[in-house]
Amino acid sequence: MSWEDNVRTVLPYVPGEQPKDGQKVIKLNTNEMPYPPSPKVAEALSHYDANSLRLYPAADVAPLRDAIARYHGKGSDEVFVGVGSDDVLSVAFLTFFNSDKPILFPDITYSFYDVWADVYRIPYEIRPLDEDFHIVKSDYTAPNGGIVIANPNAPTGVSEMDDVRFIEDIVAANPDSVVIVDEAYVDFGGVSALPLTEKYDNVLVVRTFSKSRAFAGMRIGYAMGNSKLIKYMNDVKYSINSYTMNRPAIDLGIAALSDNAYFEKTVSAIIKTRQWTIGELRKRGFKVTESKTNFVFASPEDISAKEMFAKLRERNIYVRWWDKDRIRDWLRISVGTDGEMQTLIDAVDDIMRG
Ligand SMILES: *Cc1c(COP(=O)(O)O)cnc(C)c1O
Repeated sequence: MSWEDNVRTVLPYVPGEQPKDGQKVIKLNTNEMPYPPSPKVAEALSHYDANSLRLYPAADVAPLRDAIARYHGKGSDEVFVGVGSDDVLSVAFLTFFNSDKPILFPDITYSFYDVWADVYRIPYEIRPLDEDFHIVKSDYTAPNGGIVIANPNAPTGVSEMDDVRFIEDIVAANPDSVVIVDEAYVDFGGVSALPLTEKYDNVLVVRTFSKSRAFAGMRIGYAMGNSKLIKYMNDVKYSINSYTMNRPAIDLGIAALSDNAYFEKTVSAIIKTRQWTIGELRKRGFKVTESKTNFVFASPEDISAKEMFAKLRERNIYVRWWDKDRIRDWLRISVGTDGEMQTLIDAVDDIMRG
């Protein structure tokens, strides 16, 4: 017997590689924005009052929570704010997935879901996506302890909601469990399940500032849903750590949210660059999914994805590759600036020339 027999062991999530400070790479591996956050954020930061840091922040995150609620036309009691959507999703798993029945999610999706299930000892079953990486709706009517779906999905980029009914049918079929819809990428062209939160008390929509608002370093995520769902999440949060959101995050989050013109401009730029990149990769024989996100999911011709990944890395271009069934032939490439994507395409040409 040893203390190690009582350790909560878990195989942790592996984030994308972050280059060392000062190392010059084209970083297309963690879906960060290539553009800075709104200039309003830099402005707020430039006269930030360091003295305010003596004081604890608002435990209920009220100033930012209320700004988010106003932005989406929701009530303050329908919004939960956390330290990135990873924190929000983790609290949601712990709060709502507490059944003996397995929770359900796709085989190819955000690779944090099975890690949270493991660390919280939540039973789960995975449901394979179809050949084109779409969700098979009928898989989600089996008895379950909860459902989590990323829409648009990562790393495939595929969106299920050209038909708004798609998620609604799953939510309606499961009145006895909570359906979490992870909308980390919805701003880049997906269709949101947010209207469903008015009609159903068992759907939770999770968003983040990390991608479309260029705020990955600030760590702001939020969930929206029926006020009962939000209350239960807050009960769990206050049972672990009351002051999750620090003062600068609350203040700068409000500044980021206030600049809609800049938000729309930068998101449109990404969409335009994404479509250009998809076209260029297809011209070179890649299979590429119809992405509704700020990344493309692409499978090269005549060279393995693994080799392409390694050769891009030698040229200081970081993309993401997983040694995992069904997606071993695919690369996930975040959308950078036009210049970065041109450099990527030139590198691909160079690699394919041999
Ligand atoms: C990036 C991402 C998140 C987490 O982002 P945060 O930086 O923690 O807000 C959650 N879900 C998916 C699908 C993501 O790609």
